[in-house]
Amino acid sequence: MNQLRRQHVADQCVCCGSLNLTSTPAILMPFVAHRTFGWAPVMIDESWGLKTVQKGMAYTVCRSLMCSDCGLLFSDIRFSDDELTRLYQDYRGLAYTDLREHYEPSYTLRNNALMQQLNYDGMVERFLKPLLHMPPKILDWGGDTGKNTPFRDQCKKLDIYDISEAPVIDGANAVSREQAKGNQYDLFVCSNVLEHVPYPSDTLLDITQIMQKESILYIEVPLEDIIREHGSNALQYKKHWHEHVNFFSPIALQSLLKNCGLITIAQNNHTQITAGLKTSYLMQVACRLTDKLIPLN
Ligand SMILES: [Zn+2]
Repeated sequence: MNQLRRQHVADQCVCCGSLNLTSTPAILMPFVAHRTFGWAPVMIDESWGLKTVQKGMAYTVCRSLMCSDCGLLFSDIRFSDDELTRLYQDYRGLAYTDLREHYEPSYTLRNNALMQQLNYDGMVERFLKPLLHMPPKILDWGGDTGKNTPFRDQCKKLDIYDISEAPVIDGANAVSREQAKGNQYDLFVCSNVLEHVPYPSDTLLDITQIMQKESILYIEVPLEDIIREHGSNALQYKKHWHEHVNFFSPIALQSLLKNCGLITIAQNNHTQITAGLKTSYLMQVACRLTDKLIPLN
């Protein structure tokens, strides 16, 4: 694949490296722009004295990009580490929910539902159990408090790495990236993370550095409605971006895994769930290291 350049504004597919992209104008939603960059929407009126700019509400403009090779739909803005930290530290805490409620009235109601335990972890455990020796040692990468980690009540060890730095559930340990690297795990969980990060291969390569030959990595990402309903025609409908900056197609996800030296051993591309008061779909993959790693540059 083409060398992947980590740019602030992408001009290359972040899954497969392709330069074969199509685009459409879009906006970054005001909550995300405000929390990440401090850029609130602003009304441009006559007092600005601008002669060549039309009056009206100005939002943070970006582009939606779609990869013609793997079908990934993504925003061209790729957050830096500092920007990601501003967006996700104390995730769904008071400052987060206050600002979000300001821009998205009734968010608090949905947040309360999202903060509850998800009701589909039994399904995830049934998906994974045939692949594991029980009880497993688990590292949940981006696992928040651990309240939704599969096998959290049936594991030998549960470590959680998360930039939100939320207090973890009883029996779990919060670990730094460096601490995690010094340990061995049977099961790595990366659930509902890759749709949020600017360069998913960086996250997966951090994980694969710790994995051993027999380790299992469980990955879960949303199958977004727009991808499910419109497939390769989804681009024209994607006019706004929020926290999910990568909308994966099944091919995009497989392409990403292959480029990170991972091989799929079980998958489900169309799992229906109910969480946060709405029904949605997700893709689940269990994978292992391939014999030969193909590191991305
Ligand atoms: Zn691609």
